[in-house]
Amino acid sequence: MDSASGAGASDPNSGGEGPSATRSAAAAEGSSPAPPSRYESQKRRDWNTFLQYLKNHKPPLTLARCSGAHVIEFLKYLDQFGKTKVHITGCPYFGHPNPPAPCACPLKQAWGSLDALIGRLRAAYEENGGRPESNPFGARAVRIYLREVREGQAKARGIPYEKKKRKRPNATAATVVENVSVAPVSQVADAGGGGGGEGSASTSSAAQTATTTTATTTTV
Ligand SMILES: [Zn+2]
Repeated sequence: MDSASGAGASDPNSGGEGPSATRSAAAAEGSSPAPPSRYESQKRRDWNTFLQYLKNHKPPLTLARCSGAHVIEFLKYLDQFGKTKVHITGCPYFGHPNPPAPCACPLKQAWGSLDALIGRLRAAYEENGGRPESNPFGARAVRIYLREVREGQAKARGIPYEKKKRKRPNATAATVVENVSVAPVSQVADAGGGGGGEGSASTSSAAQTATTTTATTTTV
C-alpha cells in the first residue's frame, strides 16, 4: 500500500518512468500466492468436479436447480478427501495446534481450502452463464456454513482464524496486577527495616500483614 502510493506520487516528477512504476505497483498488488494461470486451471478443475458431482447426484440434480443447501452438501462430500486433522471434542488433543502423538480424529477439508474453493466456483458459475442473483455459491447459507467450519476448526485445532479480540480482558488483567503489586512494594519497604534476611518467603506474609495493618488502620 505504501509503496504503491509512493510510486504514484513520484510519477509526475519522473515522467518517462511512469509505465514501469505502474507496472511494479501492479505487480506488488497482484502478489497473491497463485499465479493467474494456475488459478484459472484450478477453477476449471473445480468446476468440472462440481458438474461431475451434479451428474452423479441422486436424485439427479441440474445446475439450474442447485441451491445453497446442495453446495453445502457438496462441501461435506469433499471432507472425505481432506487432509486436515480436526479433533473431536472428546480427543485429548482438542485445541492443540501441535499434538505430540497421532489420534483417530477424522481428516477434513481445511476451512481455508473450502473458502477458496467457493470463491472459484462462485466465479466459474457466473463465467458459465449463471446469474449473480441466483448464484448458489454466494448463498447466505453457504456463508454461514463456512463461518461455522472456520470457528469449529479454530477451536478444534487451537488455531485462531479471527482477529484478536482480547484488548479488554488484557487491560482488566493488567489493572488487577497493578493493584496487587502496589501493596507488596510498600510492605516490602516496611519489612526491609525490620528483618531483611528472610528474603522472598517473607514477602507474601509481609504483604498479608501489611494488608491487615492497612485494614486495621482504616478501621481505627
Ligand atoms: Zn484428535
